[in-house]
Amino acid sequence: MNKNDIITVYGSNPTKMTESLLQAIDFETLLPDKNAFIALKPNLVVAVTADSGATTHPEIVIAIIEHLQTLGYRNIRIVESAWVGDSTKEGFRVNGYHQIRDRYSVPLIDVKDDSYSKKTIGKITMEVSDTILETDFLISLPVLKGHCQTAMTCALKNMKGCISDRSKRLFHTLGLHEPIAALNAARSADLVIVDSLNGDLDFEEGGNPVETNRMFATRDSVLCDSYGASLLGFELRDIPYIGLAQEMGVGSTDLSKANVIQLNEPSDEEPAKPSGRASYLAKHTEPDSACSACYGNLIHALKRLDEVDRLDDIPVAICIGQGYKGVNDPNKVGVGICTRGLGKSLPGCPPKAIDMIAFLKEL
Ligand code: SF4
Repeated sequence: MNKNDIITVYGSNPTKMTESLLQAIDFETLLPDKNAFIALKPNLVVAVTADSGATTHPEIVIAIIEHLQTLGYRNIRIVESAWVGDSTKEGFRVNGYHQIRDRYSVPLIDVKDDSYSKKTIGKITMEVSDTILETDFLISLPVLKGHCQTAMTCALKNMKGCISDRSKRLFHTLGLHEPIAALNAARSADLVIVDSLNGDLDFEEGGNPVETNRMFATRDSVLCDSYGASLLGFELRDIPYIGLAQEMGVGSTDLSKANVIQLNEPSDEEPAKPSGRASYLAKHTEPDSACSACYGNLIHALKRLDEVDRLDDIPVAICIGQGYKGVNDPNKVGVGICTRGLGKSLPGCPPKAIDMIAFLKEL
C-alpha cells in the first residue's frame, strides 16, 4: 500500500469489511518484525456503543487482532483514553473489550493510568503516553464524525486519546487546532482504518448517527482527514488542524494526488433509512432505494448548507437512489449516477458531499 492510497469498502458487516481492507492493503508487508509492539487505538471518547455514532465498532478491533495473531504477532495492545470527565474503563466495558482482552490475551491500556513523556513541538509541550511512544506500529481506528468545536474528527484528532488529561485541558485552552497538529508531528498513526459506518452528524459524543456504511484505510493521517472532510462536505479551511499538520510535515492534503481505490459498489447494500434528528434535513430529499453511502453524503451536504442558511434556497427535493435508474423526468433534480436521466443530475457513485454542495448551490 502506497502512502497516497485511500482504499474504500462499502457494506454493513464491519468484520468482513475490515478483512477486505487488510487483504487489499497487503497488511503483512507494512508490519515490522514479529516481536514488534503493535497498538490499536479505537475511539472510545465516551462510554457508549458504536450504534450511537460516537465509538469504533469493536468488530473492527477483533478482525485486526485475529489477522495479526494469525500472522504470528503477539505483542498487541489496545490503547485509549476517554475525554476528560469520562471513564475509559467504562468505555471498554460497554463495548465488550473485557471479553476481547480475555479471549485474545490482548491488554487494555487506559492512557489515564499510563506514564507520560513530555514532547515539545514548536511552542507546545504535551504529555504523551509512554505506551504509545514505545509502540512500533500504531493502528488508529477513528470514527469519521462531526465535532462541535473542530467541525470534524477523524485520524488526526483520534490521537488526542494518547495524551494525559492535563494535556487535553491544555489543548482546549490553546484552541485545539495547533496542538492536534503538533501531537501528530510528535507521533502519528502508521496505518489508519476509518470507521465511517454511521458516524455522528455533528457531535463527537454521538446520538445522531448517519449511516454511510463505509470504511477506508490510508497510511497518511493528513490525507485521511482531507478525504474525510470532503466526504462530510467540509473545505480544508473549515478544519485548520489538517493544513497545520501538513505544514508540520505529518502528511499531505493533496487529494488530487491521492489514489482512491474502491473495493466494491455501495449498491451491494441495503437501502438507507432516514432517521434521527437528521430527519429535518431529509425533508429536502426524495429517496428511492438510495445506498447508505450516497444518502449519508447528501445528509452531510444538506447539513453544511443549513449551517450557512442556504438550505431553504434549494428549490426542489433532491432525488437519490437506485429507484431512479431509467427514470427520465426533465423537472426533477438528482444526485448520483442513478439519477442521470433527470433534468439535472450530479454524477458519481456515490458523489462526495463536497461535490453535492457545489451542485446544490447552483440550482
Ligand atoms: S449513485 Fe446509485 S448506486 Fe451509486 S451510491 Fe448512489 S444510489 Fe447507490
